Amino acid sequence: MTQSSAQDNRLAADTLLVREYLAEVPHKPEPDPTENQRYRDAIKALLKERNATLVAHYYTDPEIQALAEETGGMVSDSLEMARFGRDCDADVLVVAGVRFMGETASILSPDKTVLMPTTAATCSLDIACPIDKFSAFCDQHPDRVVVVYANTSAAVKARADWVVTSSIALDVVEHLQDQGKKILWAPDRHLGHYIQHKTGADMILWDAACIVHEEFKAKGLMDMKALYPDAKVLAHPESPSSVLAMADVIGSTSQLIKAAVELPEQTFIVATDQGIFYKMQQQAPDKTLIVAPTAGNDASCRSCASCPWMGMNSLQAMYESLRDGSNRIQVDRDLAARAMVPLQRMLDFSQQRQLAVKGKA
Ligand code: SF4
Repeated sequence: MTQSSAQDNRLAADTLLVREYLAEVPHKPEPDPTENQRYRDAIKALLKERNATLVAHYYTDPEIQALAEETGGMVSDSLEMARFGRDCDADVLVVAGVRFMGETASILSPDKTVLMPTTAATCSLDIACPIDKFSAFCDQHPDRVVVVYANTSAAVKARADWVVTSSIALDVVEHLQDQGKKILWAPDRHLGHYIQHKTGADMILWDAACIVHEEFKAKGLMDMKALYPDAKVLAHPESPSSVLAMADVIGSTSQLIKAAVELPEQTFIVATDQGIFYKMQQQAPDKTLIVAPTAGNDASCRSCASCPWMGMNSLQAMYESLRDGSNRIQVDRDLAARAMVPLQRMLDFSQQRQLAVKGKA
């Protein structure tokens, strides 16, 4: 078998695997305002009773983000969520996001109880980068420094030399390039291409994608730009290069929110998960935000700018997890210690460079 046909087979298998996971995502029921209010009240009481803190990702439902803010928790990207969790004095962390975020929280806070509304919420990048295949890939390239994105399992992180978020990835790769290092990058190919293009670094890329960002379409974006000629395009670098080529600002979630606040334009077309609109609109209330066009609402579009796995974080599931102490995430101590090494390398690097380690992750 040639190398490229072997890779094609691997990709086909991984795509199938992502589809299988997607098929398990339940369709979201219509919200019932009265019932949701009951869950909100019950969650608030349980958070107090259990000395628990709610940390939510930018891509979760606005009502979950609002609840995190109301109860003294935080809304951010995965690493800031984990750092906030590590530094707060709660006994229990309730992580509203996807599984690798719960794992990162557990790695940074091994003595806290980490609960999630659901452990079935995963990520196409994580699914398509299983540790056995990834480890074999690394073994084939022992001369390369292994840099992985935060959207990976604890086992993949433990196999890496560096973990990065989208806001610090460019700086880390430039730093390694300055040292004459060659890089093995995983898992997001679009983010990898973008960094390779920006830095000219010698990188080989794992071939996975975020199903949400992959659906943003350049043709639709061109039509939308014609409709809104004064709008600026804000895009996350997990989007395809044809979309990034039309973007005015490319950045992590935190960088895109900052751009919406600070740029003088009134209208923005935003190519990332629309959960970010909650925070963006809160910080830039006078701006008009438009979701960038995706593949559409046909049968093949399971994301439509909205991550199906993030959408599994319901109030009911959160209430039940807190009530029962269920869906606990506990990364094995030895694995956590190994995953902590490349995570700590990134934290130290950011501190030395005084960079904010924020990103979509
Ligand atoms: S939005 Fe994309 S990268 Fe984020 S959790 Fe969902 S599938 Fe993964």
